[in-house]
Amino acid sequence: MTGIDDLPIRDELRGKSPYGAPQLDVAVRLNTNENPYPLPEALVERIAERVREAARDLNRYPDRDAVELRTELARYLTRTAGHPVTVANIWAANGSNEVLQQLLQTFGGPGRTALGFEPSYSMHALIARGTGTGWLSGPRNDDFTIDVERARRTIAEHRPDVVFITSPNNPTGTAVEADTVLALYEAAQAAKPSLVVVDEAYGEFSHRASLLPLIAGRPNLVLSRTMSKAFGAAGLRLGYLAADPAVVDAVQLVRLPYHLSSVTQATALAALEHTDTLLGYVEQLKAERDRLVAELRALGYEVTDSDANFVQFGRFEDSHAVWQQILDRGVLVRDNGVPGWLRVTAGTPDENDAFLEAVRALKKEQS
Ligand code: PMP
Repeated sequence: MTGIDDLPIRDELRGKSPYGAPQLDVAVRLNTNENPYPLPEALVERIAERVREAARDLNRYPDRDAVELRTELARYLTRTAGHPVTVANIWAANGSNEVLQQLLQTFGGPGRTALGFEPSYSMHALIARGTGTGWLSGPRNDDFTIDVERARRTIAEHRPDVVFITSPNNPTGTAVEADTVLALYEAAQAAKPSLVVVDEAYGEFSHRASLLPLIAGRPNLVLSRTMSKAFGAAGLRLGYLAADPAVVDAVQLVRLPYHLSSVTQATALAALEHTDTLLGYVEQLKAERDRLVAELRALGYEVTDSDANFVQFGRFEDSHAVWQQILDRGVLVRDNGVPGWLRVTAGTPDENDAFLEAVRALKKEQS
Protein backbone atom coordinates (compact mmCIF):
# COMPACT_ATOMS: atom_id res chain seq x y z
CA MET A 1 0.00 0.00 0.00
CA THR A 2 1.26 3.43 -0.88
CA GLY A 3 1.43 5.78 2.12
CA ILE A 4 1.61 9.56 2.15
CA ASP A 5 5.31 9.46 2.91
CA ASP A 6 5.95 7.37 -0.21
CA LEU A 7 4.74 10.34 -2.25
CA PRO A 8 7.03 13.23 -3.20
CA ILE A 9 5.35 15.59 -0.68
CA ARG A 10 7.06 18.61 0.89
CA ASP A 11 9.52 17.61 3.62
CA GLU A 12 7.80 19.68 6.31
CA LEU A 13 4.56 17.70 5.80
CA ARG A 14 6.18 14.29 6.33
CA GLY A 15 4.89 12.34 9.33
CA LYS A 16 2.25 14.99 10.14
CA SER A 17 -1.47 14.43 10.87
CA PRO A 18 -4.36 16.55 9.61
CA TYR A 19 -6.06 18.92 12.06
CA GLY A 20 -9.38 17.84 13.48
CA ALA A 21 -11.25 16.86 16.60
CA PRO A 22 -12.68 13.33 16.74
CA GLN A 23 -16.18 13.37 15.15
CA LEU A 24 -17.75 10.73 17.40
CA ASP A 25 -21.39 9.72 17.48
CA VAL A 26 -22.14 10.75 21.06
CA ALA A 27 -25.43 12.12 22.48
CA VAL A 28 -23.89 15.28 23.93
CA ARG A 29 -21.13 16.84 21.82
CA LEU A 30 -19.44 19.78 23.51
CA ASN A 31 -16.07 19.54 21.80
CA THR A 32 -15.82 21.92 18.84
CA ASN A 33 -17.11 25.26 20.17
CA GLU A 34 -20.13 25.13 17.90
CA ASN A 35 -23.31 27.01 18.67
CA PRO A 36 -25.82 24.36 19.90
CA TYR A 37 -28.87 26.21 18.56
CA PRO A 38 -30.02 25.34 15.05
CA LEU A 39 -30.90 28.35 12.91
CA PRO A 40 -34.47 29.60 13.55
CA GLU A 41 -37.06 28.37 11.05
CA ALA A 42 -37.74 31.88 9.68
CA LEU A 43 -34.06 32.19 8.81
CA VAL A 44 -34.01 28.73 7.21
CA GLU A 45 -36.88 29.92 4.98
CA ARG A 46 -35.06 33.15 4.13
CA ILE A 47 -31.91 31.20 3.22
CA ALA A 48 -33.99 28.98 0.92
CA GLU A 49 -35.43 32.09 -0.77
CA ARG A 50 -32.11 33.81 -1.26
CA VAL A 51 -30.40 30.61 -2.41
CA ARG A 52 -33.26 30.00 -4.89
CA GLU A 53 -32.59 33.45 -6.37
CA ALA A 54 -28.86 32.77 -6.48
CA ALA A 55 -29.49 29.40 -8.17
CA ARG A 56 -31.02 31.16 -11.18
CA ASP A 57 -27.62 32.74 -11.84
CA LEU A 58 -25.38 29.77 -11.07
CA ASN A 59 -24.31 29.62 -14.72
CA ARG A 60 -22.41 32.84 -13.91
CA TYR A 61 -19.45 33.28 -11.57
CA PRO A 62 -20.32 34.95 -8.24
CA ASP A 63 -19.63 38.58 -7.38
CA ARG A 64 -15.85 38.19 -7.10
CA ASP A 65 -15.55 41.03 -4.60
CA ALA A 66 -18.65 40.04 -2.56
CA VAL A 67 -19.56 43.73 -2.30
CA GLU A 68 -23.10 43.34 -0.92
CA LEU A 69 -21.96 40.84 1.71
CA ARG A 70 -18.95 42.95 2.77
CA THR A 71 -21.21 46.00 3.02
CA GLU A 72 -23.56 44.13 5.36
CA LEU A 73 -20.65 42.76 7.43
CA ALA A 74 -19.36 46.34 7.76
CA ARG A 75 -22.80 47.47 8.97
CA TYR A 76 -22.88 44.63 11.48
CA LEU A 77 -19.45 45.53 12.91
CA THR A 78 -20.24 49.25 12.93
CA ARG A 79 -23.39 48.53 14.93
CA THR A 80 -21.95 46.00 17.38
CA ALA A 81 -18.19 46.44 17.67
CA GLY A 82 -17.80 50.10 18.60
CA HIS A 83 -16.09 51.50 15.51
CA PRO A 84 -17.40 52.59 12.10
CA VAL A 85 -16.10 50.55 9.15
CA THR A 86 -17.13 50.39 5.48
CA VAL A 87 -16.97 47.83 2.71
CA ALA A 88 -13.40 49.00 1.99
CA ASN A 89 -12.29 47.78 5.45
CA ILE A 90 -13.80 44.29 5.12
CA TRP A 91 -12.71 41.14 3.33
CA ALA A 92 -14.56 37.80 3.49
CA ALA A 93 -13.58 34.19 2.79
CA ASN A 94 -14.60 30.58 3.44
CA GLY A 95 -14.27 30.58 7.22
CA SER A 96 -11.78 32.65 9.15
CA ASN A 97 -9.33 29.82 8.54
CA GLU A 98 -9.23 30.89 4.90
CA VAL A 99 -8.91 34.55 5.92
CA LEU A 100 -5.90 33.60 8.08
CA GLN A 101 -4.44 31.51 5.27
CA GLN A 102 -4.75 34.42 2.84
CA LEU A 103 -3.06 36.70 5.39
CA LEU A 104 -0.14 34.30 5.77
CA GLN A 105 0.10 33.82 2.00
CA THR A 106 0.35 37.61 1.71
CA PHE A 107 2.44 38.57 4.75
CA GLY A 108 4.19 35.29 5.62
CA GLY A 109 5.65 32.62 3.34
CA PRO A 110 9.09 31.09 2.82
CA GLY A 111 11.85 32.92 4.69
CA ARG A 112 9.32 34.65 6.95
CA THR A 113 8.03 33.78 10.43
CA ALA A 114 4.83 34.07 12.43
CA LEU A 115 4.59 34.20 16.24
CA GLY A 116 1.73 33.04 18.45
CA PHE A 117 1.35 32.81 22.24
CA GLU A 118 0.62 29.20 23.14
CA PRO A 119 -1.47 27.36 24.07
CA SER A 120 -3.68 28.94 21.45
CA TYR A 121 -5.61 27.99 18.33
CA SER A 122 -3.36 25.34 16.82
CA MET A 123 -4.46 26.10 13.25
CA HIS A 124 -2.34 29.26 13.38
CA ALA A 125 0.80 27.12 13.44
CA LEU A 126 -0.63 24.66 10.90
CA ILE A 127 -1.60 27.40 8.43
CA ALA A 128 1.91 28.79 8.90
CA ARG A 129 3.33 25.39 7.98
CA GLY A 130 0.97 25.05 5.01
CA THR A 131 2.07 28.43 3.66
CA GLY A 132 5.77 27.76 4.23
CA THR A 133 5.92 30.31 7.05
CA GLY A 134 8.24 29.59 9.99
CA TRP A 135 6.50 29.27 13.38
CA LEU A 136 7.58 30.72 16.71
CA SER A 137 5.83 29.69 19.91
CA GLY A 138 5.70 32.53 22.44
CA PRO A 139 5.05 32.00 26.15
CA ARG A 140 2.02 32.66 28.35
CA ASN A 141 1.79 33.08 32.12
CA ASP A 142 0.55 30.22 34.32
CA ASP A 143 -2.93 31.81 34.28
CA PHE A 144 -2.76 31.86 30.43
CA THR A 145 -2.56 35.66 30.15
CA ILE A 146 0.18 37.15 27.97
CA ASP A 147 3.17 38.55 29.85
CA VAL A 148 3.70 41.85 28.01
CA GLU A 149 7.37 42.25 28.95
CA ARG A 150 8.31 38.72 27.91
CA ALA A 151 6.25 39.08 24.73
CA ARG A 152 8.03 42.34 23.89
CA ARG A 153 11.40 40.67 24.36
CA THR A 154 10.37 37.72 22.18
CA ILE A 155 9.25 40.09 19.41
CA ALA A 156 12.42 42.21 19.65
CA GLU A 157 14.62 39.11 19.56
CA HIS A 158 12.90 37.16 16.76
CA ARG A 159 11.42 40.00 14.69
CA PRO A 160 8.48 37.95 13.36
CA ASP A 161 6.66 39.07 10.19
CA VAL A 162 3.23 38.19 11.60
CA VAL A 163 2.05 38.17 15.24
CA PHE A 164 -1.15 36.35 16.23
CA ILE A 165 -3.12 37.52 19.27
CA THR A 166 -6.22 35.40 19.93
CA SER A 167 -8.83 37.15 22.05
CA PRO A 168 -10.76 35.47 23.53
CA ASN A 169 -8.13 32.77 23.31
CA ASN A 170 -8.92 29.20 22.30
CA PRO A 171 -8.64 26.81 24.22
CA THR A 172 -8.26 28.83 27.42
CA GLY A 173 -11.08 31.44 27.00
CA THR A 174 -8.72 34.22 28.09
CA ALA A 175 -9.41 37.75 26.80
CA VAL A 176 -6.49 40.04 25.94
CA GLU A 177 -6.65 43.66 27.16
CA ALA A 178 -6.50 46.46 24.58
CA ASP A 179 -3.37 47.82 26.31
CA THR A 180 -1.61 44.51 25.74
CA VAL A 181 -2.51 44.49 22.04
CA LEU A 182 -1.24 48.06 21.71
CA ALA A 183 2.03 47.24 23.48
CA LEU A 184 2.61 44.21 21.24
CA TYR A 185 1.67 46.22 18.13
CA GLU A 186 4.23 48.90 19.04
CA ALA A 187 6.88 46.24 19.70
CA ALA A 188 6.11 44.51 16.39
CA GLN A 189 6.34 47.80 14.46
CA ALA A 190 9.61 48.73 16.15
CA ALA A 191 11.13 45.34 15.38
CA LYS A 192 10.23 44.99 11.72
CA PRO A 193 7.41 46.33 10.98
CA SER A 194 5.08 43.34 10.97
CA LEU A 195 1.40 42.44 10.67
CA VAL A 196 -0.52 41.90 13.93
CA VAL A 197 -3.57 39.68 13.57
CA VAL A 198 -6.16 39.80 16.35
CA ASP A 199 -8.20 36.60 16.02
CA GLU A 200 -11.58 37.49 17.51
CA ALA A 201 -13.47 34.35 16.43
CA TYR A 202 -15.24 34.35 19.82
CA GLY A 203 -15.50 38.14 20.15
CA GLU A 204 -19.30 38.25 20.50
CA PHE A 205 -19.14 36.06 23.63
CA SER A 206 -16.74 38.33 25.49
CA HIS A 207 -17.49 40.36 28.62
CA ARG A 208 -15.36 43.08 27.00
CA ALA A 209 -15.75 45.34 24.01
CA SER A 210 -14.33 44.29 20.64
CA LEU A 211 -10.75 45.27 19.84
CA LEU A 212 -11.98 46.60 16.46
CA PRO A 213 -11.48 50.33 17.34
CA LEU A 214 -7.73 49.65 17.55
CA ILE A 215 -7.47 49.33 13.75
CA ALA A 216 -7.92 53.12 13.42
CA GLY A 217 -4.59 54.62 12.33
CA ARG A 218 -2.85 51.22 12.55
CA PRO A 219 -2.55 49.85 9.01
CA ASN A 220 -0.69 46.75 10.17
CA LEU A 221 -3.41 45.64 12.61
CA VAL A 222 -6.02 43.17 11.36
CA LEU A 223 -9.10 41.88 13.16
CA SER A 224 -10.36 38.42 12.12
CA ARG A 225 -13.95 37.32 12.78
CA THR A 226 -16.28 34.45 11.87
CA MET A 227 -19.95 33.61 11.45
CA SER A 228 -19.20 30.05 12.68
CA LYS A 229 -19.76 30.75 16.37
CA ALA A 230 -21.98 33.73 17.25
CA PHE A 231 -24.12 33.36 14.10
CA GLY A 232 -24.49 29.62 14.69
CA ALA A 233 -23.35 28.98 11.14
CA ALA A 234 -20.25 26.77 11.34
CA GLY A 235 -21.52 24.84 8.32
CA LEU A 236 -21.74 28.00 6.23
CA ARG A 237 -17.98 28.63 6.20
CA LEU A 238 -17.87 32.41 6.35
CA GLY A 239 -15.10 34.37 8.00
CA TYR A 240 -14.05 37.97 7.50
CA LEU A 241 -11.44 40.52 8.44
CA ALA A 242 -11.57 44.22 9.27
CA ALA A 243 -8.49 46.35 8.60
CA ASP A 244 -7.11 49.29 6.73
CA PRO A 245 -8.33 49.20 3.07
CA ALA A 246 -4.70 48.58 2.00
CA VAL A 247 -4.78 45.17 3.75
CA VAL A 248 -7.97 44.30 1.85
CA ASP A 249 -6.20 45.26 -1.39
CA ALA A 250 -3.15 43.20 -0.41
CA VAL A 251 -5.02 39.92 0.16
CA GLN A 252 -6.50 40.24 -3.34
CA LEU A 253 -3.03 39.29 -4.58
CA VAL A 254 -3.42 35.73 -3.26
CA ARG A 255 -7.18 35.05 -3.14
CA LEU A 256 -8.47 32.63 -5.72
CA PRO A 257 -10.82 34.29 -8.18
CA TYR A 258 -14.48 33.69 -7.21
CA HIS A 259 -13.45 31.94 -3.97
CA LEU A 260 -16.77 32.75 -2.27
CA SER A 261 -19.64 30.95 -4.01
CA SER A 262 -22.94 32.70 -4.82
CA VAL A 263 -24.67 30.20 -2.51
CA THR A 264 -22.35 31.11 0.37
CA GLN A 265 -22.85 34.83 -0.21
CA ALA A 266 -26.65 34.46 -0.40
CA THR A 267 -26.75 32.35 2.78
CA ALA A 268 -24.53 34.72 4.75
CA LEU A 269 -26.65 37.70 3.67
CA ALA A 270 -29.79 35.92 4.86
CA ALA A 271 -28.16 35.17 8.23
CA LEU A 272 -27.13 38.82 8.63
CA GLU A 273 -30.79 39.84 8.19
CA HIS A 274 -31.49 37.81 11.37
CA THR A 275 -28.62 39.23 13.42
CA ASP A 276 -30.74 40.30 16.39
CA THR A 277 -32.32 36.87 16.89
CA LEU A 278 -28.94 35.16 16.61
CA LEU A 279 -27.32 37.58 19.07
CA GLY A 280 -30.16 36.68 21.46
CA TYR A 281 -28.84 33.09 21.45
CA VAL A 282 -25.37 34.49 22.18
CA GLU A 283 -26.74 36.10 25.36
CA GLN A 284 -28.19 32.74 26.46
CA LEU A 285 -24.88 31.01 25.76
CA LYS A 286 -22.97 33.61 27.75
CA ALA A 287 -25.25 32.96 30.72
CA GLU A 288 -24.74 29.19 30.30
CA ARG A 289 -20.97 29.70 30.04
CA ASP A 290 -21.01 31.65 33.31
CA ARG A 291 -23.11 28.90 34.90
CA LEU A 292 -20.58 26.24 33.80
CA VAL A 293 -17.74 28.29 35.30
CA ALA A 294 -19.60 28.75 38.60
CA GLU A 295 -20.74 25.12 38.92
CA LEU A 296 -17.39 23.64 37.98
CA ARG A 297 -15.72 25.87 40.59
CA ALA A 298 -18.33 24.84 43.17
CA LEU A 299 -17.44 21.20 42.42
CA GLY A 300 -13.81 22.01 43.24
CA TYR A 301 -12.38 22.15 39.73
CA GLU A 302 -9.92 24.82 38.69
CA VAL A 303 -11.47 26.92 35.93
CA THR A 304 -9.83 29.53 33.72
CA ASP A 305 -11.83 32.80 33.45
CA SER A 306 -13.70 32.58 30.14
CA ASP A 307 -14.77 35.26 27.66
CA ALA A 308 -15.69 32.66 25.03
CA ASN A 309 -18.44 30.08 24.48
CA PHE A 310 -16.33 27.39 26.16
CA VAL A 311 -14.64 26.77 29.47
CA GLN A 312 -11.22 25.31 30.29
CA PHE A 313 -11.23 23.22 33.46
CA GLY A 314 -8.77 21.03 35.37
CA ARG A 315 -6.42 20.24 36.73
CA PHE A 316 -5.95 16.59 36.03
CA GLU A 317 -2.91 14.41 36.37
CA ASP A 318 -4.01 12.54 33.26
CA SER A 319 -6.40 14.76 31.30
CA HIS A 320 -6.81 12.22 28.54
CA ALA A 321 -8.01 9.57 30.99
CA VAL A 322 -10.58 12.03 32.39
CA TRP A 323 -11.65 12.92 28.84
CA GLN A 324 -12.35 9.20 28.30
CA GLN A 325 -14.24 8.90 31.60
CA ILE A 326 -16.49 11.82 30.63
CA LEU A 327 -16.99 10.26 27.20
CA ASP A 328 -17.95 6.97 28.86
CA ARG A 329 -20.81 8.94 30.45
CA GLY A 330 -22.04 10.07 27.02
CA VAL A 331 -20.48 13.54 26.87
CA LEU A 332 -17.77 14.50 24.39
CA VAL A 333 -15.47 17.32 25.52
CA ARG A 334 -12.12 18.36 24.05
CA ASP A 335 -8.64 17.30 25.03
CA ASN A 336 -6.56 19.98 23.33
CA GLY A 337 -3.31 18.52 24.54
CA VAL A 338 -2.84 21.26 27.17
CA PRO A 339 -1.39 19.18 30.01
CA GLY A 340 -3.77 19.03 32.97
CA TRP A 341 -6.72 20.71 31.29
CA LEU A 342 -9.85 19.91 29.27
CA ARG A 343 -12.24 22.21 27.41
CA VAL A 344 -16.02 22.07 27.34
CA THR A 345 -18.18 24.07 24.92
CA ALA A 346 -21.28 25.75 26.36
CA GLY A 347 -24.27 23.86 24.94
CA THR A 348 -27.98 24.06 25.59
CA PRO A 349 -29.03 24.06 29.28
CA ASP A 350 -29.87 20.32 28.99
CA GLU A 351 -26.51 19.48 27.41
CA ASN A 352 -24.70 21.45 30.09
CA ASP A 353 -26.69 19.66 32.79
CA ALA A 354 -25.66 16.32 31.28
CA PHE A 355 -22.02 17.42 31.32
CA LEU A 356 -22.22 18.69 34.91
CA GLU A 357 -23.89 15.43 35.94
CA ALA A 358 -21.00 13.48 34.38
CA VAL A 359 -18.26 15.47 36.13
CA ARG A 360 -20.20 15.42 39.42
CA ALA A 361 -20.30 11.61 39.22
CA LEU A 362 -16.55 11.56 38.54
CA LYS A 363 -15.87 13.70 41.61
CA LYS A 364 -17.99 11.37 43.74
CA GLU A 365 -16.11 8.32 42.53
CA GLN A 366 -12.79 9.96 43.35
CA SER A 367 -13.76 10.99 46.89
N1 PMP B 1 -9.96 31.17 15.13
C1 PMP B 1 -10.19 30.54 16.27
C2 PMP B 1 -9.55 31.06 17.53
C3 PMP B 1 -10.98 29.38 16.29
O1 PMP B 1 -11.16 28.72 17.44
C4 PMP B 1 -11.56 28.93 15.09
C5 PMP B 1 -12.46 27.71 15.01
N2 PMP B 1 -12.30 26.73 15.89
C6 PMP B 1 -11.28 29.64 13.92
C7 PMP B 1 -10.50 30.76 13.98
C8 PMP B 1 -11.76 29.19 12.59
O2 PMP B 1 -13.10 29.25 12.44
P1 PMP B 1 -13.83 29.24 11.04
O3 PMP B 1 -12.84 28.83 9.99
O4 PMP B 1 -14.95 28.30 11.19
O5 PMP B 1 -14.26 30.67 10.84
